[in-house]
Amino acid sequence: MTITEPTTTATDLDAARADLRARLLGDGVLIDLGSPGLYGRSGVFERVYQAVDAAAVRSQADLDADVLRFPPVEPLASFERTDYIASFPDLAAAISAFTGDDRTHRALLAARERGERWESFLEPADLMLTPAVCHPLYGLLTGTLPAGGRTFDIVGDSFRREPSLDPMRLQAFHMHEFVHVGTAASARAHRDGRIARLRETLESFGLEIDVVPANDPFFGRVGQMLARNQVEQALKFEFVTPVYGPDHEPTAISSANLHEDHFGTSFGIRTADGDVAHSACLAFGLERITIALFARHGSDPVSWPANVRAALAL
Ligand code: 5GP
Ligand code: ZN
Repeated sequence: MTITEPTTTATDLDAARADLRARLLGDGVLIDLGSPGLYGRSGVFERVYQAVDAAAVRSQADLDADVLRFPPVEPLASFERTDYIASFPDLAAAISAFTGDDRTHRALLAARERGERWESFLEPADLMLTPAVCHPLYGLLTGTLPAGGRTFDIVGDSFRREPSLDPMRLQAFHMHEFVHVGTAASARAHRDGRIARLRETLESFGLEIDVVPANDPFFGRVGQMLARNQVEQALKFEFVTPVYGPDHEPTAISSANLHEDHFGTSFGIRTADGDVAHSACLAFGLERITIALFARHGSDPVSWPANVRAALAL
């Protein structure tokens, strides 16, 4: 038996990631905030990001979705019911706050004075950073949906504790989601029926897109089973684009996800016919799309191909 050497190594990929990161920082598009995966953004970044978001919204306008916006944190009680902590404990993050008295404050300040960590003086605040922008929605839908279900347009902050030097992996980022909650058939139709449109939209930005079954990083041994289930049942598709060249795995910049009755069951949501509701999301990863554009076309949108600028109304 011969063992074939892989043509590329993790080191090549790390180098490609470091190159892109250096380019984005060097061109001033991103600003290093001193913690991996947290960046400030320049006016140029923001202009492209807003153009991506507006194009995403235009592409889904026929959904006539109800607009909803949520804060970047969600109550622990609603986070609990999503079961996120069972699948992704390593990505979850909680808010803590100071609730002590003067004595505890003095102890905190003394620890700080000694150069010690002082966060242990804070207490859990029963708030979680929202890891997926549709999560706060489901608690609002407990009860019975109207016939035909409901469709929502939700954009907001996502936080996932994944510090990384890969500029495509941020700890704090934004998704624009188009969420449908309805029957098993209408949720599936929402996910499957819109894949072509979403793909065309991303391709109109001059990006090379493939649609592939998703393989989320479910945690631990139970997670391996969940990951297998996700692939076998084709629950989630990702729209991937090669950011680091043809020799490396492309990166997911959007997704189309069928939750089946997961949220319907946890949050007690029923269809007009009395069945447990099903749900599905289309998610545009706004920073990832924006950075993929800078990677593909360069850091100055003025020099991008005319058709790309037109698709983005830039
Ligand atoms: P999902 O819920 O499918 O994991 O995430 C939805 C979309 O958010 C992904 O397709 C991707 O575009 C974006 N996303 C997920 N994780 C990250 C991340 O770590 N950094 C950034 N910038 N975007 C992410
Ligand atoms: Zn969602």
